[in-house]
Amino acid sequence: MHRDTQILNAGYRPVKEPGPMVAGPQFVSTYVTPGDPAQHRLTYGRFENPTWQAWEESLGVLEGGDAVSFASGMAATSAVLGTCLGPGDTVVLPEESYYTIRTLASTWLEKIGVRMRLAPTRGNGQANVLEGARLLWLETPSNPHLDVCDIAALVEAAHAAGAVVVADNTTATGYLQQPLALGADYVVASDTKAVTGHADIILGHVASRDRERVTALRDWRTRHGAIPGPMEVWLAHRSLATMPLRVTCQCAYAARLASMLSTHPAVTAVHYPGLATHPGHEVAKRQMRAFGGVVSFELPGRAHAERFLGALRLVREATSFGGVHSTAERRARWGGDAIGDGFIRFSVGCEAAEDILEDVEEGLRAAEA
Ligand SMILES: *Cc1c(COP(=O)(O)O)cnc(C)c1O
Repeated sequence: MHRDTQILNAGYRPVKEPGPMVAGPQFVSTYVTPGDPAQHRLTYGRFENPTWQAWEESLGVLEGGDAVSFASGMAATSAVLGTCLGPGDTVVLPEESYYTIRTLASTWLEKIGVRMRLAPTRGNGQANVLEGARLLWLETPSNPHLDVCDIAALVEAAHAAGAVVVADNTTATGYLQQPLALGADYVVASDTKAVTGHADIILGHVASRDRERVTALRDWRTRHGAIPGPMEVWLAHRSLATMPLRVTCQCAYAARLASMLSTHPAVTAVHYPGLATHPGHEVAKRQMRAFGGVVSFELPGRAHAERFLGALRLVREATSFGGVHSTAERRARWGGDAIGDGFIRFSVGCEAAEDILEDVEEGLRAAEA
């Protein structure tokens, strides 16, 4: 069966089985459990919830492994780091990884005695610093620079060095890229972005093919209480059915936008792995089904970027990405990433491509003025 069809039906009731196609969200803290608790599958709301089960089954289809849902992408990230690392261990992070992950490593992880090494995503730079490492964290395409690394090659190098491999698949999404099939031990993602895609939910997940690792993640979630709310999970499940449609549309429009930007005189650089000129294009083509809905580009400076954003009438100025509404922001306003003051991260939505392009062209005219 085609992957789009599998995702559309994931976690739904089997076609011939009578009953609701998807049950509504189950709000529950307390299950009635007479006698021996071991006789009951559902005992307490922090341990289990039927709404989570249907969602995790769907995420399993998306990622090609067993999935555990968390309250946010960062809760999912913390669970992987917390279950894998201990005093004396070394973690190798991408130099330009999602900023909060580096902050977590330099605060909490450092406090518990974990050392951090940073290396660039581009050119598989992390392969050079694996000696003695316990965990290799990948993010490809990286965020916001959209650098690319070769997942299979890095998995091979990391496993040879005795390290486990985690891929942050948020920017790529499980629809476009499957790190577990490429040998990664874990895939982590923020479902706040394209998986749910409507700018209204914070959620995250981890998936793995190793039963013990999945059990450790579930125990972590239960003990730390990093559980997702049933309403969010149910909405997320509802959103997943349209993910192939949404992401396919975003990829197609992003390619058009990147191509327009790459010849526009106001733009000094475009970062999009779908462009043949992108240094990671060949690798991205091999390991991704399409190149995603985020396009980063550079204007000469802060004033240009602010004039660009101020002139947009359709595209909203906002952080985050992956939603059906196009958004853009000047990334350097947050600090923390090694990027220029005119660096724009643009998240392509599902408005008509002509309208998106027209709005951007108008913005670029203002930027140049
Ligand atoms: C947003 C994001 C996260 C964190 O996810 P939250 O749902 O905001 O906690 C982690 N990694 C990447 C690449 C992200 O874009």
